Amino acid sequence: MFKKILIANRGEIAVRIIKTCRELGIKTVGVYSKADKDTLHVNLADEAYYIGESRVSESYLNIERIIEVAKQAGAEAIHPGYGLLSENAEFANACGIAGITFIGPSPEVIQKMGNKIQARKLMVESGIPIVPGTRRPLKNSEEAVEVAREIGYPIMLKASAGGGGIGIEVIHNEDELKQKFTNNQKRSENFFASGEMYLEKYIINPRHIEVQILADKYGNTIHLWERDCSTQRHHQKVLEEAPATCLSSETRGKLVNTAIKAAKSLAYTNAGTIEFLVSESQEIFFLEMNTRLQVEHPITEEITGVDLVEEQIRIAIGQKLRHRQEDIQCDGHAIEVRIYAEDPVTFFPSPGTISNISFPQGENIRHELAIREGSIITPFYDPMIGKMIVKGADRQEAISSLKKALEEYVIEGIKTNIPTLMEISSHPKFDNGEITTNFLTTEFKSLLKSNGR
Ligand code: ADP
Ligand code: ADP
Ligand code: MG
Repeated sequence: MFKKILIANRGEIAVRIIKTCRELGIKTVGVYSKADKDTLHVNLADEAYYIGESRVSESYLNIERIIEVAKQAGAEAIHPGYGLLSENAEFANACGIAGITFIGPSPEVIQKMGNKIQARKLMVESGIPIVPGTRRPLKNSEEAVEVAREIGYPIMLKASAGGGGIGIEVIHNEDELKQKFTNNQKRSENFFASGEMYLEKYIINPRHIEVQILADKYGNTIHLWERDCSTQRHHQKVLEEAPATCLSSETRGKLVNTAIKAAKSLAYTNAGTIEFLVSESQEIFFLEMNTRLQVEHPITEEITGVDLVEEQIRIAIGQKLRHRQEDIQCDGHAIEVRIYAEDPVTFFPSPGTISNISFPQGENIRHELAIREGSIITPFYDPMIGKMIVKGADRQEAISSLKKALEEYVIEGIKTNIPTLMEISSHPKFDNGEITTNFLTTEFKSLLKSNGR
């Protein structure tokens, strides 16, 4: 086993990774920016190193500096968490060159799947159904207009390098496309240093269902069932559940088998997630692959009993998968809610100091947090400050635990989305499981106004 791992991340996910390392007897090296000097992940890591100014470009995205720290501290491996450098092929490659194990797939696979247009092309070649649309970058808005005529409106305009719900826009007609194309392209250049755009058919009222994969270096690939992540705002997940209760057993089988087929076609290793859209008639479409640990990985852990971070580490060091497919049982129902430091109405981030925090305890409640009383939420990072995961014998039991837990959840000093989460959890459509990706926007119109993202 590794003796020491550097965690190239911050916040709740850094704390989460430290927890498993401790259980495995692995020493941890934390890194931090100026703004994160007094945060929980820095306190909990066995040693921690300053890596730069508060902006991510000067700290958490500084590949050279992070590798230098890893060498200095004698870390044998780096866990990238999610976001930040986790899907950066250059970083994975730089780790390899420095003789440090990157806990994730190969740089080649990260590169392939990080470009969504290329990923779509590869999936088609492997016989995986994708959302109808373009398979090469659009040259300009004129070409976009032409292609959109063939696909038919509404369409989805997407950035090939996009992520976190950014760079995606629903377009209803030609005028709107002409108007928005260049702006969107510029935004994408700013955010992702790539202006590559493409179009997809807009799937009406779909569900977002994704399949968790684990694969070792010896060709063994298993799935750990699916997660339903249809409750979204601005195309980003707010609440996730496992398993998905809406699927016919035929569709469920098709999803997990397609995910395995996709991972195998890439000779994928480590943990990964294949995201799909499932239409009202239960047709399935490949959406994208995330070549990393997912924010919502805990719900899979809760229903399968597998520690995904532990498996990632074991795979990275070269161990064979410890689980056979038939060992992966799906027990009970888990729901995760993401706690965002944001105004529940406008979705604008709400930085500030947490003056009081108290959260519900219980056997079936799990918290993934890196905040405490006195924590300062700065505007430099993602507004997601933590997650709560509840488990029940079935969906109804999980929902009633969730409602109760949210009522007991107190965070003062900043605005959070907890009021919205409470409304969602007591909404009759949520209760019935009638959730599509449009649920929040259509049912919470009066509560939720767009902030233009
Ligand atoms: P998941 O698919 O795991 O649910 P999200 O799409 O919500 O993940 O993104 C996870 C985290 O990574 C969020 O903090 C999000 O802001 C960030 N993120 C994801 N992709 C990108 C990207 N391409 N550029 C910048 N941040 C990203
Ligand atoms: P990201 O990389 O930002 O996670 P995704 O391609 O995974 O982007 O899409 C995020 C969300 O946007 C999906 O979960 C879904 O709700 C919505 N979406 C994306 N593409 C389509 C589409 N073609 N039709 C309908 N909804 C879509
Ligand atoms: Mg996605």
